[in-house]
Amino acid sequence: MGSKTKFTFKGPAYNMFADSVAGGAFGPMLRWAGYDHLVVTGAASRAVYLYINNDRVELRDASRLWGMGARETHKAIRKELEDEEVETACIGQSGENRVTFASITSSGWRAAGRCGGGAVMGSKNLKAIAVKGTKGIGASDPQAFFQLSLEMIERVQALPIIENFKLEGTIQAVELYDTVGSNPWKYYRGIVNPADIRDKLSAKAYNSLFKIRPVSCSTGCATACSAFHRIEGHETPLASRYRGPGDKPEYLAVATVGSLCAIPDYAAISYFYSATNDYALDFLEVGHACAFLMELWDKGIITSQDSLEWMGEPVSFEWGNVEALEKVVESVVFQRNQLGEFFREGVYKGVQRLEQVKGVPLLKYCVYGKGGSVLNEESRPFPTWMTNHAVSSRGCCHMRSVTMVDKMGLTDVSQALLGRPEAGTRFVPDLKGAFSAVNEHIVAAYNCVGICIVKACFDPIQLPPGSYAEAYTAITGVPMTPEEIYLAGRRAANVEKAFNSRLGYTRKDDTLSERWLKEPLADPGPTPAGITVSDYLDHTLTEYYLWQGWDPETSLQKRETLEMLDLNGVADILAKEGMLVE
Ligand code: SF4
Repeated sequence: MGSKTKFTFKGPAYNMFADSVAGGAFGPMLRWAGYDHLVVTGAASRAVYLYINNDRVELRDASRLWGMGARETHKAIRKELEDEEVETACIGQSGENRVTFASITSSGWRAAGRCGGGAVMGSKNLKAIAVKGTKGIGASDPQAFFQLSLEMIERVQALPIIENFKLEGTIQAVELYDTVGSNPWKYYRGIVNPADIRDKLSAKAYNSLFKIRPVSCSTGCATACSAFHRIEGHETPLASRYRGPGDKPEYLAVATVGSLCAIPDYAAISYFYSATNDYALDFLEVGHACAFLMELWDKGIITSQDSLEWMGEPVSFEWGNVEALEKVVESVVFQRNQLGEFFREGVYKGVQRLEQVKGVPLLKYCVYGKGGSVLNEESRPFPTWMTNHAVSSRGCCHMRSVTMVDKMGLTDVSQALLGRPEAGTRFVPDLKGAFSAVNEHIVAAYNCVGICIVKACFDPIQLPPGSYAEAYTAITGVPMTPEEIYLAGRRAANVEKAFNSRLGYTRKDDTLSERWLKEPLADPGPTPAGITVSDYLDHTLTEYYLWQGWDPETSLQKRETLEMLDLNGVADILAKEGMLVE
């Protein structure tokens, strides 16, 4: 099932609520030290790391660690503490340099990638949190808990999707998305990868190219859809450039490097994925920045003269140039030149800076939303995904209500959750806003329980978050029903919404860039021709707010909804600030 760790903060990347979830073993180790939740306030005057060893808590000097990547930091802390069981959550060079979309790396290799948690730690001079716990976890009813755990593992293993997940992980989506029209080829010019490169980007290609060691990314997962591999140097055209050990990339890394930047080479993709985890940088923002520069190069808007000026050397931004991607990443991480400064705060602000320098409007070419990069996959044909992107509480992101319901036409899932099948009917807006709202509570509930959502999102009816209610009671002794687990998710979604309302966000901010709203799909492929998002987004947004119990005109929460969720205190605060509908 997996045990995930969630980092929550006010996000420097998009200036709103933020959280980011990672694998690794940091969270479970923190729990074994006796802590459910850790709150870090204030800032240190010099570089430090926080060391927690059960009840002992101390700040230690981190000047020696400053400048190291995440892997090296993880190893160096273990060495200094002479303890190979210590787990860490640390930042790399990106967080030190206050890149606003810097991430946090757990256990030296798994990223809490989105929203800029690494910049928050960097601003506190907090290089890492290291933890060792030996207390174990007391269970109220250990026998029942172990029995329920075994049953749950069996249920997960019996899911029809699980065999393929074990073999392919999230990169199985590459092939699926070529059939439904959801790969962002050359910065959204095509919605599928061209036929001649599909074989290079498939999960089967990855599995056949490298020597792979499957591994679970987090404690307690029996699926092990992640993997380590070794690149010998002969496997792909770019393999000799990236010899050495690496991590199996997730789908969005393949979409960003392979499709968006048109570099269909698994050696380059996995290098980029591992390197950005080590620099602790959100690969979606930085990969998007490079792909956007490629788009401008292709349009003749930037030339090598510009790169000479901004980077100190002429760089070609032709589609597929892996050197350009390397140089953009390094420019941003190390803030070593003007291009790095342009994109220090992500794509949206970076493009605005380019506009000033070039003196021409450029945002119209950019696919962004809520102040930053979208998740780099083509989502225009899928109204649930576009609604998710527009309303997400943590920047432009589909993860809040991640679902395959309209991508795969899952009418049975729609029927089970909404009592009607239409959310599973492709390319029409009906019930897509409703599904986004209800599924958002389900995903939030999974995240509250702390389990991995990648399998669950495919099958929220066979493995609903309420399945964990009995186990929750067995371990805590607190009575819990499936309905209460669902309501916990709904409460979490409402607290996030309230946080953003207090920052002044309303319905007018739940929108997307002009290019995604108005540009018809250029390469219809498996989707109906001429579809534009502005045809349906207003409809799905209104439906989404209604199913949330929020005011459809402003998107603001209603007192009756918050009181029904026992969030009366939240309602009172919003009322005082004029951000509640009474
Ligand atoms: S299913 Fe994959 S992503 Fe989820 S916890 Fe297991 S290894 Fe990690």
